[in-house]
Amino acid sequence: MNPELAHAAPPAPPDAVPPIIQPRSERWRTVAVLTLGFAVLAGAAVMFLFNPTDGGFYPRCALHTLTGLHCPGCGGLRATHQLLHGNVAEAFRLNPLWVIVAPFVVWLLLREAARTFLGRALPPRRVSVWWIWMLAVAVVLFGILRNLPAFRWLAPS
Ligand SMILES: [Zn+2]
Repeated sequence: MNPELAHAAPPAPPDAVPPIIQPRSERWRTVAVLTLGFAVLAGAAVMFLFNPTDGGFYPRCALHTLTGLHCPGCGGLRATHQLLHGNVAEAFRLNPLWVIVAPFVVWLLLREAARTFLGRALPPRRVSVWWIWMLAVAVVLFGILRNLPAFRWLAPS
């Protein structure tokens, strides 16, 4: 017998499956996606059960409290509550931009979850920077317009 092979590990059987060991960055990604998913589901459950219109523990908009102006997010919590109850028209009256953007946010969250847990990328494979800039411009325009008298219908009532 060859003395160099005397201490070598026995060869693995031909049908052995190698152990799955995630690299550290993948483990952190899994933890981050699980944490974000849990936070989103918990937040949705709270907003489903407790109507922000009743006040309670929900935070008030600092800009609206101080100035009376509506920021782009004003009405967003109430709109989310209405969306979770299937009242799309009422949600649209409270924050139309959020009603338009929310399905894309949900899709991006599902996309990250599928990529992390299924190893499959759902379309689109990449989100163009152009779309992010368009969203930023839309948010700023929406925030300005909903405070102008001609576009009061964009403000929550
Ligand atoms: Zn606000």
